Amino acid sequence: MAKKASVEKKSKRTGYSVVVVPQYEGCARQFKVSRLAIYSVITAFVLFISGFVYVVAQNTRLKNTVAQYNGMGLDQMVRLQASQLDAANEAISKSNTELDALKTYVAYLGTLDAKVRKTLGVGGNSVSLASILKSTATPTLSVSRGLAAGATQLSTSAAVVQQEAQDREKNLIILQDAASKYNTMLAQTPSLWPLYGLVTSDYGWRSNPFGGRGSEFHDGVDIAAPYGTAIRATADGKVEQSGWNGSYGISVTLYHRDGIETLYGHMSRTAVSTGQTVKKGQVIGYEGSTGRTTGAHVHYEVIVHGSSVNPMTYLD
Ligand SMILES: [Zn+2]
Repeated sequence: MAKKASVEKKSKRTGYSVVVVPQYEGCARQFKVSRLAIYSVITAFVLFISGFVYVVAQNTRLKNTVAQYNGMGLDQMVRLQASQLDAANEAISKSNTELDALKTYVAYLGTLDAKVRKTLGVGGNSVSLASILKSTATPTLSVSRGLAAGATQLSTSAAVVQQEAQDREKNLIILQDAASKYNTMLAQTPSLWPLYGLVTSDYGWRSNPFGGRGSEFHDGVDIAAPYGTAIRATADGKVEQSGWNGSYGISVTLYHRDGIETLYGHMSRTAVSTGQTVKKGQVIGYEGSTGRTTGAHVHYEVIVHGSSVNPMTYLD
């Protein structure tokens, strides 16, 4: 027992022996290796492997992170640009819609202009709106076609429409002036009945109302209404004559425009004086039977350049 303990003690102290035995011939060789050397080698190996694994792992992680960041950056940039392009496209599309609406409005003004000109009988229009609008193609834009090109197109269209709108404005001002003159002309044209009543004698040849032989030319219409009924100016004008007027009795004569006059005879009294301006529908006197008359009525005459015309053609 003592001997065995001694051997164990000895082997602990000396470490290990490595015996190399040749496979075929020669002497076997023995190498002594201490425990410390074995532990050192194993520790060094483990440390080396651990370090290697750590470096590889770190490198892979870093690479992944960089790739991830790169990927995220590009993706975000693309998304941002896409949204900006969408916004720009939307804005251009909106402008297109507004431009279309403006074109429609200008075209409407054109038709209105033509209608008004036709009504008023004033000069034609040298600018053909339809041809201009036809030559101005509406820009249909897409991102792929390029925003700059689309914007240029849009701006050109807007300029053309703006020019057209200015031309329309000038034309409308001319029309407004024409319409104003037209309105004045209408106001100065006899159109009302001087009073509402029964037409007892028409314009033209008639047998002598006072009996006797022959016939006479009646240069107005006689309208009978209750005595004292108000007589109104049949158009805007100026009082040329007011008062006694021979066979017309108490009468009023108005001058309107372009040689057009009206005369109201057989009044009981007048309501205006010479030189006064009157408006269409204004009371100028009252019905009566003064002068050469058989009863209460107004003798209404329309005179153009000194000659009487049929007043019925001037009555609404
Ligand atoms: Zn008469």
